[in-house]
Amino acid sequence: MASPAQQLPPGWSAEWDASAQRYLFIETATGRTQWEPPAPAAPAAQIPYTDPGAAAQPAGSHKRRQYAAGQTQAYYGGESTLDAGYLGGPPPQQGGGQLFTPGLVGENQFAAQQTQAQPAAQPAYYTPGDADYAHAPVYGQPQPAYGQPVDNLANQFGQMGVTGQKQHSLYTTNLLTSPPDPRDLQNPPPEIRLPPNSCVSPASTANADPSYQRCTINAIPTTSSLLGKSKLPLALVLTPYRSLKDGEEPVPVVTDTVIARCRRCRTYINPYVQFIDGGNRWRCCMCNMTNEVPQLFDWDQVRNQPGDRWARAELNHSVVEFVAPTEYMVRPPQPAVYIFLIDVSNPAVQSGMVATATRTIRENLERIPDEDGRTKVAIVCFDTSLYFFSMPTGTTDSSMLVVSDIDDVFLPKPNDLLVNLAESRASLESLLDKIGGMFQENSIIGSALGPALQAGFKLMSPIGGKIVVLSSSLPSIGAGALKNREDPKVLGTAKESALLQASVPFYKNFAIECSRAQVSVDMFLFSAAYQDVATLAGLPHYTSGQTYYYPAFNAGRSEDAIKFAHEFGEVLAMPIMLEAVMRLRMSSFHGNFFVRSTDLLAMPAVPQDQSYAIEIQIEETITTPFVVFQTAVLHTTCYGERRIRVVTLALPTTTNLSEVFASVDQIAIATFFANKAVERSLTHKLEDSRDYTLQKLVEILIAYKTSMTAGGAGASAQLAISENMKMLPILVLGLLKNVGIRQSAQIPPDLRAYAQALLTSLPSQLLISYLHPNFYSLHNMPPEAGTIGENGSVILPPQQPLTSERLERHGLFLIEDGQTMFLWVGRDAVPQLVADIFDLPNYESLRGGKTTLRVLGNPFSERVNAVIQKIRESRRGPYYPHLYVVKEDGEPPLRLWALSALIQDRADVLPSYQQFISSLKEKVSSS
Ligand SMILES: [Zn+2]
Repeated sequence: MASPAQQLPPGWSAEWDASAQRYLFIETATGRTQWEPPAPAAPAAQIPYTDPGAAAQPAGSHKRRQYAAGQTQAYYGGESTLDAGYLGGPPPQQGGGQLFTPGLVGENQFAAQQTQAQPAAQPAYYTPGDADYAHAPVYGQPQPAYGQPVDNLANQFGQMGVTGQKQHSLYTTNLLTSPPDPRDLQNPPPEIRLPPNSCVSPASTANADPSYQRCTINAIPTTSSLLGKSKLPLALVLTPYRSLKDGEEPVPVVTDTVIARCRRCRTYINPYVQFIDGGNRWRCCMCNMTNEVPQLFDWDQVRNQPGDRWARAELNHSVVEFVAPTEYMVRPPQPAVYIFLIDVSNPAVQSGMVATATRTIRENLERIPDEDGRTKVAIVCFDTSLYFFSMPTGTTDSSMLVVSDIDDVFLPKPNDLLVNLAESRASLESLLDKIGGMFQENSIIGSALGPALQAGFKLMSPIGGKIVVLSSSLPSIGAGALKNREDPKVLGTAKESALLQASVPFYKNFAIECSRAQVSVDMFLFSAAYQDVATLAGLPHYTSGQTYYYPAFNAGRSEDAIKFAHEFGEVLAMPIMLEAVMRLRMSSFHGNFFVRSTDLLAMPAVPQDQSYAIEIQIEETITTPFVVFQTAVLHTTCYGERRIRVVTLALPTTTNLSEVFASVDQIAIATFFANKAVERSLTHKLEDSRDYTLQKLVEILIAYKTSMTAGGAGASAQLAISENMKMLPILVLGLLKNVGIRQSAQIPPDLRAYAQALLTSLPSQLLISYLHPNFYSLHNMPPEAGTIGENGSVILPPQQPLTSERLERHGLFLIEDGQTMFLWVGRDAVPQLVADIFDLPNYESLRGGKTTLRVLGNPFSERVNAVIQKIRESRRGPYYPHLYVVKEDGEPPLRLWALSALIQDRADVLPSYQQFISSLKEKVSSS
């Protein structure tokens, strides 16, 4: 590569010409080009051109800006600046008085920012590990420290790639002798090592936080054959609308009236564009088109004075939100609309669902997003008829209108069924107080859910919004009626997967209608009997809604009421993105990449923390040193503002297979596999889905062995994988043992379908725990565990490997997967422990089952409660896991359920981790 490491004279820029595979040099003033590098500038020429009058000129000035030299120098840099950056050298001094164009910082600073960009961006991914782990006991083989070579063979591969960035070292580990360590799941993904000066910003926020957007491989192979050789999946995992936890920075908002986008491919300006032509133009990092830099980039509109373009959010943040001008709107931003469809049939009332749901809505009216005062609400109840409620404004009155003809649903007059939340607050409250009583004696059994959905749709379709369904039984009459198809005989057989597919087309077809009208549906399902979750969950699935399942809900158990009320309350309070459209753009737009599914996704209402996996193919050889992925979600906020959330991720490319393996993000791969396994179980059989997932893992192991180890093909005493993929086998085992996929003749189809809905929508942060639960030993936790650490948050005990060998007879343990928590009590637990935690005299008096743990007046109780609270709070999403007390010699089903979370153990026909690894080794050796 002819890298123009020397400094170009002012007025020149260099462009990488992909077809010629060399740099083209351009005299920016004249547009003259040449292949030969121009003569390096004399020292005098490096002094920035300074125009004494410039600072006073507004941004509208057409004076030519002179910083091509700085740009090119910065862009191509020298090796020395790279090293200085990696060594964490001090930031260069700012060139204070050297302003050369209105509002711009000095050229020297510009250059400094550029050369500092990448190295400074890295530490964000390498925040020091959780202090908890310092106290974790060592088990199994000693861990090689992160960053310490264990296999010199791997290091014979070049450390420097074509692009000049430092490559990852590949560390091979032997799965046969190196047991999984749960702490590894807390490690950040392999660092994204971009070529020097790929980024215009030194900010650590300039590349995507993996919680917003992550890729299965952090160094993209340049060809599909290299990718194919690795057998690794190439996919993006997106959570563009993730929630913010306390202390996290909000997404910066850009309010300019002109949004800087590429005029050819429509990419939004981002930290990976290149400024050329004296800073007057920017080159698109996707398609290479040059575009005008908007004048507002150098003019501060608010203060009416020169502005600093390098401080702009778009150039410093990988995640930004633009306030969309009117041309981004098909219609004025819609208000938020919520329609509650409440099942009031006998089982719904008797279970206490109706009372809990209406009380929760009433208590959360204040939290429903309504910043602009435009939010609208309607309440429709249903059993085998529909009950509408008219709420005239300014009164506390409401009247009920019954529609019994469910074959051709019509909306009763008058029109005040859908009311303004703020204006009709009093009548809403009074109605919600009354509904429980109104239907208290209802003896009707049966559900007209389909007609209720149609009615709700008619009410809101001119606007769009969210339909929230609360249903306790199988829809039995009218459109969308379902039959009980649960058949214990087919469970565990090839026919089982049919039960996971929709039984009637109504819900999917209805979803298409909803999607067109910007209507999204959430399902809260409560039945004690079969409810066909698989069919009903299709409606949220295709409208970007969510399914919540509370099997055999009984509000008489306070734990059930608390869990549902908490989760429902969180859903009501959650901000949502309305009428959203998501588009993914990738660099080298001329067909180098191909999104297999679709690059345009319509989502009527996006809830927070929903995750999407998108598979990518490489079609042609990639010639650029790095590639850029940009996700843009055009949406309306729930307070009526049209916005675009843009997430940009830049990844280096590589021709080196070792680099490909060393940069794998195993969390992203496991997330992608979970999505793929569910998809496959629906199009094929459950068994095929498991075989397919296992086969994909075996292929990766074979590819690694043949290309990265001395063993090559054939038998070997090792089962080799790179250190950064060491947890992939156990994550796959966890997936194969998950309720959504597991081989079993005992899993009710509703539970399976719900687990599958979770597997395809949970963000990685929640999904990984759902595949690989967390296991803590509480009775002997270190003294600091359960207390508040230096950073102000509760310290968790060290995680244990997921095997019952760790369960001690006198001990107290916590096992949790983000959906359920088990408090395991050993049969020899001393009376003092039982008294401290449960306020009971001894183990014998303790009962297993759902429980609410109270904080008792002793330090151990406080610490255990603090640990449980911390786990609940640290998770994204509205989920509030049930806590079960499990006695070691208690009810077998509960015991087995808890033990099934210890995925390293053998369970029934499912292998232990050791057996799993041995079978993998056999498959790899026989290849
Ligand atoms: Zn472009």
